[in-house]
Amino acid sequence: MSYPKIRISLKKIKYNTKRLVTLSSKYGIKIAGVTKVFCAYPKIAKALVEGGVEYLADSRIENLKKIRDIDVPKMLLRLPMISQAEKVVELSDVSLNSELATIKELSKKALEKGKQHKIILMIDLGDLREGIFEEEEIFDTVEIIMKLNGVKLIGIGTNLTCYGGVMPSKDNLGRLTNIARKIESKFKTKLDIISGGNSSSIYLMEKGDIPEGINQLRLGESIILGRETAYGENIEDTYSDCFKLIVEIIEIKEKPSVPIGEIGMDAFGNKPTFEDKGIRKRAICAIGKQDVNIDDITADDTNIEILGASSDHLILDITDSTKDYKVGDKVTFNLAYGGILSSMTSEYVHKEIK
Ligand SMILES: *Cc1c(COP(=O)(O)O)cnc(C)c1O
Repeated sequence: MSYPKIRISLKKIKYNTKRLVTLSSKYGIKIAGVTKVFCAYPKIAKALVEGGVEYLADSRIENLKKIRDIDVPKMLLRLPMISQAEKVVELSDVSLNSELATIKELSKKALEKGKQHKIILMIDLGDLREGIFEEEEIFDTVEIIMKLNGVKLIGIGTNLTCYGGVMPSKDNLGRLTNIARKIESKFKTKLDIISGGNSSSIYLMEKGDIPEGINQLRLGESIILGRETAYGENIEDTYSDCFKLIVEIIEIKEKPSVPIGEIGMDAFGNKPTFEDKGIRKRAICAIGKQDVNIDDITADDTNIEILGASSDHLILDITDSTKDYKVGDKVTFNLAYGGILSSMTSEYVHKEIK
């Protein structure tokens, strides 16, 4: 087996998915399983489906293409690029939208293919990422969508705690369900989906405070890391180690802890600072910032300190470890969200999916 590698446990991912699907079902909520953090590797996406998700959802059309053969509806999470409208209609069943120009283009492309594409209209409840902000614009937009034959409005949704860090609350999600009811009565229609956010909405659900009517959450991080993202708390009875990073040591030497000579800039243009701890035993591992965001990794051996990294070298202080590391030994790390995202994206990190 080649290194560095990321080891992925399908069993644990499926377990986490089942846990969240079961928990949510108590509140009448179904799950769109988000695949972007693991670049929609089909084997992993299948584990989400076996765990009971209703949709597979991703931000990138390239990722949805990888899982086109998995027989569940696909959702495009990021607002479509108008230039990709044709692909969006081909590779996703439903997309999140806020721009009429794009929706019209989707309708046109869908009609050309003899299809009807489903739309979830995004409402900005204050986080200031995507979505319509003004209530009047919402109804104006709905009115026009209703007249387009290639698309069907199946629901509304929101995204929180992404840009502005705004927490989901009874208040703001209540506004969403209110808007849904207004749309339904104004346009004599039924909205099947009210999509109440991402992994940051879980705490509200667990408190029993999620407003009646919210019937979908789009979950990525909570499935993958067993962690809700409003407070960063672990979710009871889930795994946080579905993904592990394993890297190989290529040098072990005793060296001073402060570089010798005038300090200029490091490999990334920053001026580094150092604490003098005397001579320390250091290990270099064959992985770097090109592969993984090193702020998002923690060594399983808690006596290892991560000193830093360049594009292709990771430097560790192993002086305090009880283990007598040798060149060629492997060091294992747990990964936070950004660590999984980056190492799954790096073509230099081998994927061991089992
Ligand atoms: C990424 C994303 C999600 C999933 O977020 P998590 O915090 O990983 O659960 C949900 N909705 C949208 C629109 C996203 O872009």
